[in-house]
Amino acid sequence: MKPKTCVHGIVFTLFCLYYYYQMILPHPPSGPDAVRLRRRKRLLLAKLGIPAGALPGSLVLTHRRCGKANCHCAEGAGHPLCLLTFMVDGKKHVESVPADWMDAVRPAVEAGRTFKDAVAELFAINAQLLVLGRNQRSRLRPRSDSPSRSGGLP
Ligand SMILES: [Zn+2]
Repeated sequence: MKPKTCVHGIVFTLFCLYYYYQMILPHPPSGPDAVRLRRRKRLLLAKLGIPAGALPGSLVLTHRRCGKANCHCAEGAGHPLCLLTFMVDGKKHVESVPADWMDAVRPAVEAGRTFKDAVAELFAINAQLLVLGRNQRSRLRPRSDSPSRSGGLP
């Protein structure tokens, strides 16, 4: 009964997304901007699976000399050094990664950045939809009905 369970899972997920979407705004906006933002939001949500192996920060290949006078690096560019720079609890970390791991690590860093950008864009869309909804609501309702207008959202 795996396919049936799968269909139930998909239906449940769609229901949750629909419910979440309906709950997120007290006054869902309408119009072409809202349609465009919702379309982009659906696209982002569809591709927004959490990449479990993703890495934060950035990956850079650099070269360092080891300082030994008889090493070949004393004459050349230095030994290849791969650095992963990332933040944890507001503190910057710089960790070396074996240079021959770089091709394997780079896609994980790119997946992390793509995910982070998509989440940031999704939240920005939610904020834009919130502002659109607020503006449309205040155009529809007389000012006397909304005394908290000046103390509300920016
Ligand atoms: Zn060296």
